[in-house]
Amino acid sequence: MDTQTPLVYCYRIMPGSYIVSYPVFVCGDKPDALTFDIQLDDEVGLLHYARSQPSELIAENAIHRRYITTTAKRRLHQVAFRERVLKAYQTRCALCMLKHAALLDAAHIIPDGEPDGEPEVSNGLSLCKIHHAAFDLNYLGITPGYRVEVRRQLLDEIDGPMLQHGIKAMHGQRIALPNSRRERPSVKRLEARFEKFRLADQTS
Ligand SMILES: [Zn+2]
Repeated sequence: MDTQTPLVYCYRIMPGSYIVSYPVFVCGDKPDALTFDIQLDDEVGLLHYARSQPSELIAENAIHRRYITTTAKRRLHQVAFRERVLKAYQTRCALCMLKHAALLDAAHIIPDGEPDGEPEVSNGLSLCKIHHAAFDLNYLGITPGYRVEVRRQLLDEIDGPMLQHGIKAMHGQRIALPNSRRERPSVKRLEARFEKFRLADQTS
């Protein structure tokens, strides 16, 4: 802490799997509890750190670092959420089973920042980019019984293979679920989210 030595922080996502964040700095010592606080930093923070004079580091950087810590922590949580969700679904889209991690997202059932929108696996769905966007835009919904419903307007539309096979063919299909019951989409959250889809479907 005295020398402000940059350190590497390993954040555990699940047993045997970590996200590495660096540089981090020790910013508080609690000898009674045998713990200490660290601040997460990023490239911007590091650049700022490198340019700062030692006297500036103390006051100005405390505010700057607090901001960086918040954003870096948020990013860390997002990366952890993605890793956990994709692993629960064996790195496949829950709808079309596409298994290319680079084309998959961890979609939120209840959006991040809303009540009940916590980054828990039971608030997530592993979806490919197309199905993620379609879900977010209410082009399709997922019932609390884990079935896909495609918006009526789209079902009536005739178009190329993406609409036909990528979207319309999903209608009525059951989604793939994680093996662990605890990691399956929360029925309560699906209910709330499906209600929004239903309203959007009615007004289209
Ligand atoms: Zn998909």
